[in-house]
Amino acid sequence: MLSYTDARKKVIEVAGSLPRPLLRTEVEIEQAFGRILAAPVLADRDYPPFDRSTRDGFAVRSADAQAPGAQLDCVGELRAGGHLDVTVLPGQCVEIMTGAALPRGADAVVMIEHTKREGQTITLERATQSGDHIVPRGTEARAGALLVAPKTRMGYAEMALAAQAGATRLEVFSAPRLAILSTGDEVVGARSKPGPLQVRNSNGISIEILARTAGAETFQLGNAPDEKGALRAAIERGLEQDILVLSGGVSMGKYDLVEQVLADLGAEFHFTGVSIRPGRPAVFGTCRGKLVFGLPGNPVSTMVTFELFVLPAVDALNGGIPRPLPVFRAKLSTPVREKGPVTHFLPARIEWEGREAHVTQLPWQGSGDIVALALANGFLIVGPERPEIAPGEWVDVLPRRGAI
Ligand code: AMP
Ligand code: MG
Repeated sequence: MLSYTDARKKVIEVAGSLPRPLLRTEVEIEQAFGRILAAPVLADRDYPPFDRSTRDGFAVRSADAQAPGAQLDCVGELRAGGHLDVTVLPGQCVEIMTGAALPRGADAVVMIEHTKREGQTITLERATQSGDHIVPRGTEARAGALLVAPKTRMGYAEMALAAQAGATRLEVFSAPRLAILSTGDEVVGARSKPGPLQVRNSNGISIEILARTAGAETFQLGNAPDEKGALRAAIERGLEQDILVLSGGVSMGKYDLVEQVLADLGAEFHFTGVSIRPGRPAVFGTCRGKLVFGLPGNPVSTMVTFELFVLPAVDALNGGIPRPLPVFRAKLSTPVREKGPVTHFLPARIEWEGREAHVTQLPWQGSGDIVALALANGFLIVGPERPEIAPGEWVDVLPRRGAI
């Protein structure tokens, strides 16, 4: 059975080689958050567009200010956005504000904190070097330079950069369309009152939020019963989208029919199980040119397997580079004992003491226990080679998306 890292590699390989044209669309900059850029954003002019003062103070000729105590004659004032038709001559300076353009003749700015003023006479209390407190024109980017490259995921910094360059309409790749199908005779809608032996569909919402966070457009197909005909019809509807994510019906039970129905529809399976707990029965295949994931129905299994396997597929179909799993190290607070030749993802609480992360496993009743997961802000990862771990040891942890 594949390790979770090999299973992820498989997903990235298959999703990356899917013959699906990457569609492009244009969006207003405000709508571009999280989208993958399809066309480059270029510098419309030099940045900064002029030699920019980075401090409030006095623009000087550094040759006049080689030693503390120099006295200069202040011949004018420059505010941000302001223009002054003067050349700073030897013995002169110009009062200047942060963001203003350096006047001709000056080559440095002395901070106001390092000066004394008496009328028009400015005494410099420190020596100054050429270039002090200015950012010369074009040193951040030259006109025409590449500011944001295609395939970049647009975050706040990239969006601010595009705004700075006036690129307010952006060409991005279309989001992959992801269908969500829950299965199970016992499952009813979250807005229904369940019978005594029924459960509400919670996977529908967790998958939808995870998928949207990943950058997919979601389509809810509700729930299909554990009956071949109805399941097949629902799966066929799901295959109209780019990715179909099913929950439930992939274990060994008599009424776990998802794999069988997918096989009847001609699916090619890339894996039908991963060496993890929860989530061992997870299935990944291609069917009618679309990606299909059969995630186990226990709510925590569904969430863990989505994070591990569906997310990189969404990234790949988005036109971006799949994001690495944000695993980091934390110090174990309480002992952990786990059996079996699988990698465990255990609901856990990660807290920081200063700069050191500490992790505590939370009590839980297994992969159906969303009560425990909602209290957890991450997962403690225990590899198959580590059945017992003592407090104080460093372990791998995975943050729960959005909880840290
Ligand atoms: P399955 O993977 O179909 O064997 O289901 C495993 C467990 O998850 C069972 O207890 C199901 O009732 C539960 N389950 C399946 N689908 C859902 C769902 N959409 N929402 C909440 N629980 C579910
Ligand atoms: Mg079921």
